[in-house]
Amino acid sequence: MTEISPKRVLMGKLVHGSDLIESLNEICRSESVTLGRVEALGTVQKARLGYYNQKSHAYEFHDFDQAMEIASLSGNVSLKDGEAFVHAHVTLTDRQGKAIGGHLAPGAIIFACEYVIHAFDGPAHERGFDATTGLPLWKD
Ligand code: ZN
Repeated sequence: MTEISPKRVLMGKLVHGSDLIESLNEICRSESVTLGRVEALGTVQKARLGYYNQKSHAYEFHDFDQAMEIASLSGNVSLKDGEAFVHAHVTLTDRQGKAIGGHLAPGAIIFACEYVIHAFDGPAHERGFDATTGLPLWKD
């Protein structure tokens, strides 16, 4: 655990038709946000979510080709391979209000989305391969 402090907050909307996670990554890279948290809400035209299989140490991806609400998007910003990297999970709801959720993968296309990015000051959190889980976790 490390102590961090607030630095600045960015707030805006994402471009219709663009990729959700890639858009958040681009904002963090262009604004030099390398440590922070992300929240967003809105609606997507379709989505691709990941589920990490703890036995095989591999992501299983599922495509949802339908319009859904972004009921919640929660993520963090750290460094991976030397550049800003957003790790986000989402809860999406369909027309009946039923929820699905998981690891937000490239392939979720924005219909409309409002975001808030909280940038922090603090020690860099760099991702590296973790042999126990097979995941790119924060190094100590
Ligand atoms: Zn994840």
